[in-house]
Amino acid sequence: MTGRPQGLGVTVIGAGPAGLSAALWLHDFDVPFSWFEATSAVGGTLRRVHNRIKNYPGGLYRNGMDLAQALERHLQDRSLSPTEATLESIDLSGGPPILTLDGELFTASRVILALGTRYRTLDVPGEAEGLGKWVSQSAMADAPRFAGRGVAVVGGGDAAYENALRLARQGCSVKLLMRSEPRARVSFLRAVEEHPAIEVAPVPTVVNEIEPTVRGCVLSLDRAGEPQRMEVAGLFVRIGVDPLVVDGMRPLRSDREGFLLVDDDGRTSHRQVFAVGDITSRPLRSVATAVGQGALAAQACARELNFL
Ligand SMILES: Cc1cc2nc3c(=O)[nH]c(=O)nc-3n(C[C@H](O)[C@H](O)[C@H](O)COP(=O)(O)OP(=O)(O)OC[C@H]3O[C@@H](n4cnc5c(N)ncnc54)[C@H](O)[C@@H]3O)c2cc1C
Repeated sequence: MTGRPQGLGVTVIGAGPAGLSAALWLHDFDVPFSWFEATSAVGGTLRRVHNRIKNYPGGLYRNGMDLAQALERHLQDRSLSPTEATLESIDLSGGPPILTLDGELFTASRVILALGTRYRTLDVPGEAEGLGKWVSQSAMADAPRFAGRGVAVVGGGDAAYENALRLARQGCSVKLLMRSEPRARVSFLRAVEEHPAIEVAPVPTVVNEIEPTVRGCVLSLDRAGEPQRMEVAGLFVRIGVDPLVVDGMRPLRSDREGFLLVDDDGRTSHRQVFAVGDITSRPLRSVATAVGQGALAAQACARELNFL
C-alpha cells in the first residue's frame, strides 16, 4: 500500500458503456480525471452479450463484442484508455471518498461509479463447480453444446423464457423452473406455452442442489412442497442480475435489491459520489441509458468543479 495521492478531479470506475461515456465527456469538458477498469478490455457486459444489438442508434451490431470493439476503436481515435486496476473498497466515513484500487489509496473531488452488474446465482451446492460445464448462464453461447438433449432453465423473466425458446430451437426438451409466477413479456409467455418441447413446472419449484453425473447433472427440487429429483444434461440459470458493489458502499442509499439510488444527474446519497449505468436503480438497463447517464454525471461533475 502506498501513500494517498490527493485527487483534484474526478475518478471514474468501470469501462462499460456508462463509464466510457463519462470518460469521453469529462475529456471534452477538460476536467482532469483518472479512469480505472478491472479487466484489460473496454465494453463491460457487452463482451458477454451474444445476441444482436439492434436498438442502439448508429449501427446494427452482430453481438455485444462487435459493439465493444466499436467502442474500443472510438477510444483509440480519441487517445483515451482506462488504467487496469480493480476498485477493492471505498471509504465514505468522512470527508472526501477514499478509494482502494489494487491496494493503493486514492481520493478524488468526485467519483463516478460505473461497475455494472453480474448474473444472480442460485447459491446452491454444485452450482459454482458446474459453471461452464453442466451449468450455464447463456443459451446464446452454450445451446449448441446441449443440442437435442434434455435441459432445465431456471427463472421466470424475459431472459429465462428467451433462453428456453433458444434451447428448444436447438432440439432440446426444456423444463422451465421458477419459484414464483412468471414476469416475462406476453409474447414470450405465449411462445413458450405453444412450444411442444417446453414444459413449465408447477410454481413454486425451487432448485436446492445440483449433483454432477456422467451425462450432466441431477437437480434436487422442491416442487410445490414435494421433494423431487430431475436428471438433465444441463441447467441454465437466468434469475436476474445483482449490482456489483464493493466494501464500503453500504452507506450509499439503494433500493431493495441493492441498486444505487441516484438523482437525474447520477448523484448518490453521498455528495461527492455519482453512479451511472446498470449499477443504478433504473427501469431500463441498456447501452443507451448507460451512455446517457454517463454523460449527465460528467456534466454535473464539470459544473460542480467549475469547469463549466
Ligand atoms: C444477455 C444480455 C443482452 C443484452 N442486450 C442488450 C441490447 O440488445 N441492447 C442494449 O442496449 N443493452 C443490452 N444489454 C444491457 C447492456 O449490456 C448493459 O445495459 C450495459 O452494458 C451497461 O453498461 P454499464 O457500463 O453500466 O455496465 P457494464 O457494461 O457491466 O460495465 C461495468 C464495467 O465495470 C467494470 N468493473 C466492475 N467492478 C469493478 C471494480 N471493482 N473495479 C474496476 N472495474 C470494475 C467491469 O469490468 C465492466 O467493464 C444486454 C445485457 C445482457 C446481459
